[in-house]
Amino acid sequence: MKVRTESSNFSENKTEKKADLHTHTTYSDGSLAPSELIKKARASGVDILGITDHDSVNAIEESIEIGKEFGVEIVPGVELSSAIDDREIHVIGYFVDRKNKDLLEHLTFSRGERLKRAERIVEKLNSINIPLKLDAVLEKAGPGAVGRPHIANALLDEGLTASYVEAFSKYIGYGGPAYEKKHSLSPEDTIALIASSGGLSFLAHPGKYTTDMVLHRLMKSGLDGIEVVHPSHTPEKVQHYHNIVSQYFLLESGGSDFHGGKRNDDGALGSYNVPTAWIQEMKERLF
Ligand code: AMP
Ligand code: FE
Ligand code: FE
Ligand code: ZN
Repeated sequence: MKVRTESSNFSENKTEKKADLHTHTTYSDGSLAPSELIKKARASGVDILGITDHDSVNAIEESIEIGKEFGVEIVPGVELSSAIDDREIHVIGYFVDRKNKDLLEHLTFSRGERLKRAERIVEKLNSINIPLKLDAVLEKAGPGAVGRPHIANALLDEGLTASYVEAFSKYIGYGGPAYEKKHSLSPEDTIALIASSGGLSFLAHPGKYTTDMVLHRLMKSGLDGIEVVHPSHTPEKVQHYHNIVSQYFLLESGGSDFHGGKRNDDGALGSYNVPTAWIQEMKERLF
């Protein structure tokens, strides 16, 4: 058994590299392009940066190249949406083979489903006299996998909602009049897809909305690790998930879930770091 060396409260060791393993770019719903994100990471003191776009690995290759220029090591990742009934369960795959045929097919399919869903949401909005145009949403999405954050921002830009958060609470959030479910695999199939493409699967931000019962179900299905550090986790939750990881010999990860700074998350990058030993343990599990 491996002896853990980091302290359980993950207190920052000044000589250690800063590692943030959860961020988004314009290839999903982040507002910074890979180069901008990497520059901001560098400026925030981040040495190791995980890029985990929703349903896309398209940022990774260019990020690795740009990272070399700026002295930022890129940990490749992808955040997949799965669900049990209506409950969303996000699973991050680290170090997947970005050329794996099944994975790429799934990502392309999921992005197509996201587009169809955005069309349905716009239709629902129009039917309740909110005159949002699909083009305004697509403009927000740019090259990215289109999601509700783009719709919320388009509503805000067009003056059709008072705030980003109101767009969710009034219209497109769960149970709202323009809510539409996203196409999702089961978490078991998601974990299997990540494994078959050579990656490691991590349950993302479990403290947000995943019960420990579901967590145990996923552990039985081959989940490799848990995202322990996340802005939505209280120190008690961080400790709780760290204890589960230790008890069941899982891996652990974490990061800021930084989306570019437009969601009151401007200070997040560089503020949610994990010990570099966690990344080393991931690499050891892979090879
Ligand atoms: P999607 O993947 O298209 O369903 O969009 C999900 C994203 O929308 C989440 O990752 C959040 O960033 C955001 N989101 C979901 N619900 C809310 C909410 N009630 N308030 C603000 N943002 C939300
Ligand atoms: Fe997101
Ligand atoms: Fe997520
Ligand atoms: Zn995320």
